[in-house]
Amino acid sequence: ATAPGPVGIDDLPVREELRGKSPYGAPQLDVPVRLNTNENPYPLPDALVDRIAERVREAARHLNRYPDRDAVALRTELARYLTRTTGHPVAAGNVWAANGSNEVLQQLLQTFAGPGRSAIGFEPSYSMHSLISRGTGTEWISGPRNEDFTLDPAAAAEAIARHRPHVVFVTSPNNPTGTAVGADTVLALYEAAQAARPSLVVVDEAYVEFSHGDSLLPLIEGRPNLVVSRTMSKAFGAAGLRLGYLAAHPAVVDAVQLVRLPYHLSAVTQATALAALEHTDTLLGYVDRLKSERDRLVGELTAMGFEVTASDANFVQFGRFDDAHAAWRRILERGVLVRDNGVPGRLRVTAGTPEENDAFLDAARELTSYVG
Ligand code: PMP
Repeated sequence: ATAPGPVGIDDLPVREELRGKSPYGAPQLDVPVRLNTNENPYPLPDALVDRIAERVREAARHLNRYPDRDAVALRTELARYLTRTTGHPVAAGNVWAANGSNEVLQQLLQTFAGPGRSAIGFEPSYSMHSLISRGTGTEWISGPRNEDFTLDPAAAAEAIARHRPHVVFVTSPNNPTGTAVGADTVLALYEAAQAARPSLVVVDEAYVEFSHGDSLLPLIEGRPNLVVSRTMSKAFGAAGLRLGYLAAHPAVVDAVQLVRLPYHLSAVTQATALAALEHTDTLLGYVDRLKSERDRLVGELTAMGFEVTASDANFVQFGRFDDAHAAWRRILERGVLVRDNGVPGRLRVTAGTPEENDAFLDAARELTSYVG
C-alpha cells in the first residue's frame, strides 16, 4: 500500500547526490521584454524559414528510417564554417555534434569523467558545468577567479596542480560575466592539466562569435586533450533547434561515440541545422548588430554609474546592488526580464533589439538610487 500524503522527490529512491537539489531553471515568464537567457532576439529570416521547411519536408519522407548516426553531412558543413571563420583548417573528423552544447558537454563528462573522477571550473561560470558533472557522478571542484572576474592563470594552474581534475572547463567568453581569456591563459592551464594527469581541457566557446577577439580553436592543433565546444543557440539565433558541436582531435570524436546514444541527432534536427548553415552570412549579420548593442549597453550602464564587467559576449553583467534580487524585481515590474545568476550584487542582461535595450535602459535608469 502507498503511504498517504504527498510524495516528493526525496520519497523516491533517487541517487543520494540528487537529494534536496533544484533543477536548472531560468524563469520562463511571459513579459514583453525577455533579456534573461542570452538568446538572439532576431527571429529567423523568411528565406531561411522556407529553406528549413523544404529540407525538413524532404527529411520527413525518410522518417521511417533512422537518421545518419554519424551526421556526416552536418559535421562537414560545421567544419567548413569553423575553417572559414577561424582560418584554421577543420575537417568533419574533427567535429562532433549533439542536441545543444549541453549534450556535447555531457558526452565529454561521460567519456572523460564520471564516478571516481572530478572536473573543475572557475566560478562564477556557466552553472551547467557543475550540474552536468553532478548528473554524471563527477565530483565538482570550484576553482578561483579574480575580484574583477578575470582568470588568474597562475592561481588557476595552482588549483589544477592541487586537485588534479580529470576535466578542466574554461569558458570564454565566460557566462555570466562576459569575460574572455587569451590563448596564453589557455596554454598555461593546458600545460598544468597535462602535468597533473594528463586531463581533458574543454574550452566552452558558446559566445565566441560575439567576442572582440579570436576563437581559441587553432589551439587544438597538436593538443589532443584540448576540446572547443560551440553552439548554434546564440550567434545562429537557433536556440530552439538544439544543436551544439565540438572541434578536437579525431580521437576525441571517436571517444565520445562510446557514450552517445545511437541516432541521438534526429533527421529533422540535422536537416534544420543544414538549412541554417546555408544562411550563415545573414545570421552572422545579426551578430554585428548585437555586438554594437552590447557595446551600447556597456557604455550607457557605465554612464549611469553602474559597475559594468567588460563583455565579449551578447550579454552584460552589471551592479553593484545591495540587494540584486530586489533590483531584478524592480526591472521586472517595468516589463523587462533580466537574470539574477546568484553572483552577489550583480545582474546580467542579454543584448536584445535596440527597442528592447531601450526599454531595459529606461528601467535601469530608475534603479540608480539602488546602486550600493
Ligand atoms: N555553454 C555556455 C557557456 C552557455 O551559456 C550555454 C547556454 N546558456 C551553453 C553552453 C549551452 O547551450 P546549448 O545547449 O543551447 O548549446
